[in-house]
Amino acid sequence: SHFTSLPIDDFYVRRLRELNIESPSAIQAEAIPVAMEGKDVVAQSQTGSGKTLAYSLPLLHKIDKTAKDIQGVVLVPTRELGMQIVQTLEQLTEGTGIRVQSLIGGAAISRQIDRLKLRPHLVVGTPGRIMELLKIRKLSFHHVRTVVVDEVDQVFELGSMQEVEAILKSMMRDRQVLFFSATMPQPVQAVIDRWMRDPVYVQV
Ligand code: AMP
Repeated sequence: SHFTSLPIDDFYVRRLRELNIESPSAIQAEAIPVAMEGKDVVAQSQTGSGKTLAYSLPLLHKIDKTAKDIQGVVLVPTRELGMQIVQTLEQLTEGTGIRVQSLIGGAAISRQIDRLKLRPHLVVGTPGRIMELLKIRKLSFHHVRTVVVDEVDQVFELGSMQEVEAILKSMMRDRQVLFFSATMPQPVQAVIDRWMRDPVYVQV
C-alpha cells in the first residue's frame, strides 16, 4: 500500500518520498483516515511505529496558512521528544509557509514569547511551559482545531495530566483530540471520557 491511497496532499506524498518514506506503517494506515475525518482518536502503538507522521499529516492537512492563529497543538512529556517532533514538522513543512514553534520547558521563555509574535500555525510543547504561557496570556488556544497528546503514558507518569486537562479547557468545544501512546494507563480513560466525543480506538 502507498501513501497515495490515503487522503494526503500530493505535496506531502512527494516530500515523504524524498525522505525515503513510501508506504504507511500500520498505525499510519489505521489512524490517518479517521483523524482526517475529524474524529477524536485514541491510538495505541509502540514507540518507533511511525506515530509522529500518523498525527502530523492530519494536523497539517487542516492548517489554513492564511490565518494567523495557532491551529494545532502537540503536547509532549519531554524536551527530547518535543525537539524530534519539531524537526519532523519542519522537514515536512519546509517551503510551505507553515510556521512551527517549540514551547518546551527548560528553554528560555522570553525567546519563546518573542517567537510567538511571528504567529505560528502549530506549536509543540510540554504541558507545564504551555500552561505558564497561557496564564500570562502570551498564548491563546481559541482557534485551535486539533490537539495531540503524544506519549500519553509518560505524560501521566510525570503527573502532567491535570495540566493537559487545563489546556484542553482553554480550547473551544469543537476541537479534535488525538491521544497517542504505547500503553494507556487505566486512569487516562477518565480523561478520555471527559474530553473526547465518540473517540475511535486504534490499536496496532
Ligand atoms: P516514530 O514512531 O514517529 O518516532 O517514527 C520512528 C521512525 O520511523 C522515524 O525515523 C520515522 O522517520 C520512520 N518512519 C515513520 N513512518 C515511516 C514509514 N511509513 N516508512 C518508513 N519509515 C517511517
